[in-house]
Amino acid sequence: MRLLHILADSVVDGPGLRTVIFFAGCPHHCAGCHNPDSWAVEGGEDYSLQHVVEQIRQIGSHRVTISGGEPFLQQEALYELINALTGYDIYLFTGYRLEQLLDDALARRILSRVDGLIDGRYIKTLHDYSLSIRGSTNQRILNKKQLQSFFG
Ligand code: SF4
Repeated sequence: MRLLHILADSVVDGPGLRTVIFFAGCPHHCAGCHNPDSWAVEGGEDYSLQHVVEQIRQIGSHRVTISGGEPFLQQEALYELINALTGYDIYLFTGYRLEQLLDDALARRILSRVDGLIDGRYIKTLHDYSLSIRGSTNQRILNKKQLQSFFG
């Protein structure tokens, strides 16, 4: 998988102390993006699944956030990573709205396995400093129960 980096001990990417996996590549190009260096698909470096999982284990937290970039650009790698992290509390960021992903079978399998989803593009005019985890008010933080309600 193509990643920008792996960050230990984040307190801003979901509840608790989390390990954050930053996927490379983002098609959304939001104005005011906090990390435009993440846009290039060929950016970052290739990591094996085994290496990423081992690094997560060594860091030690059982809370993992997958961010980017846009993780759904590398859907197969994202699915393999989430499958390898059974038992972990997983939060996932995407610039897509959840409803845009529901028609895709693999995306649905990914979404059914995460514990929290932050969805939607960052919209600068909707930026709100009082928010936590997300940057603009259009973005949603959906917990597992809320996510399940979309699957019927
Ligand atoms: S989705 Fe996130 S990483 Fe992609 S352009 Fe928007 S703010 Fe930046």
